[in-house]
Amino acid sequence: MSKIAVLPGDGIGTEIVAEAVKLLRALGEPFELEFADVGGTAYERHGHPLPEATLKLAREADAILFGAVGDWKYDSLPRPLRPEQAILGLRKALNLFANFRPAICYPELTAAASLKPELVAGLDILIVRELTGDIYFGQPRGRRTAPDGAFAGADEAFDTMRYSRPEIERIARVAFEAARKRGKKLTSVDKANVLETFQFWKDVVTEVHKDYPDVALDHMYVDNAAMQLVRAPKRFDVIVTGNMFGDILSDEAAMLTGSIGMLPSASLNERGQGLYEPSHGSAPDIAGKGIANPLATILSAAMMLRYSLAKPAQADRIEAAVKRVLAQRLRTADIAAPGASPIGTAQMGDAVVAALSN
Ligand code: NAD
Repeated sequence: MSKIAVLPGDGIGTEIVAEAVKLLRALGEPFELEFADVGGTAYERHGHPLPEATLKLAREADAILFGAVGDWKYDSLPRPLRPEQAILGLRKALNLFANFRPAICYPELTAAASLKPELVAGLDILIVRELTGDIYFGQPRGRRTAPDGAFAGADEAFDTMRYSRPEIERIARVAFEAARKRGKKLTSVDKANVLETFQFWKDVVTEVHKDYPDVALDHMYVDNAAMQLVRAPKRFDVIVTGNMFGDILSDEAAMLTGSIGMLPSASLNERGQGLYEPSHGSAPDIAGKGIANPLATILSAAMMLRYSLAKPAQADRIEAAVKRVLAQRLRTADIAAPGASPIGTAQMGDAVVAALSN
């Protein structure tokens, strides 16, 4: 039986995860769901944002369903005790190196996107971002300090961009596999014209391509990719890129789809174990009001079924139910048209459950 660690976290995390759990229970599968504290909630109860018991559960589980962490009230805590450290700690402890961020523009929500409807209608792309290497984790890094050692007087700072062959190979394989299950088109985004690291990236991705002759591969510089994403985003199927370029491009792609409340994500390790969470944060401004959009979390649960629990048919069922609910014009406040009356978080969850059994 698959074991799912459920970590709701802070703010709207508890509200949106409750709806995803409702849906998982409605599927009729014998999942074992085990809950644990994380983030600010865990800090309040156990003195640490990622308690040992939560980490242990996460390690043992086949997949982790994560809500969100954070609240401005924790901003004065020392950095290692801030809620956001929990997600960084989980990524590191479980070696979650592959981040999947789909950007899908549902036809019913086209008007909410920031580009002209014809550019985004039917958009369905997947960004695969390497999550544990690159300039964010390179050594050495630091600031050249003033003679007295004070950072305030520094006149230079530096970080080092670095990728190893195994790191590039494994993310390339994950991306080729994903492309194989979709439109069989992979774009590798680099800056090979300027950076040695990304010439190496390009060479290694090209080598790995030999094992995936059925997938078409092209290479694109990151500046051009940023432009193409707003000029003609539908030209892409799967994009694979490094940690920093992926960070920026995935947020850019998110805005093509209308609402942050709709965007799921997955972070996977080599064992196929994954952490699934909405792309948004804990939204303290609307927490406790019952108005948050649970669809990003529900769609994250669908990704969990597909990528970690080997239940692709159940994932399809959930995604189809979400489409049905949108077609019925049911909307939470963040995606409602001006003047329309929105429904709440729990009503949206109920509607998706009802659409499942149709
Ligand atoms: P946020 O994503 O929480 O909210 C940004 C805006 O989007 C807010 O106006 C919010 O109300 C709205 N929003 C977000 N999710 C929504 C949903 N499901 N339905 C409707 N509206 C939604 O970003 P923020 O306000 O910059 O950050 C708030 C806290 O979340 C911070 O403490 C931040 O560190 C944390 N955060 C956590 C994660 C994570 O847990 N992985 C990610 C991002 C931010």
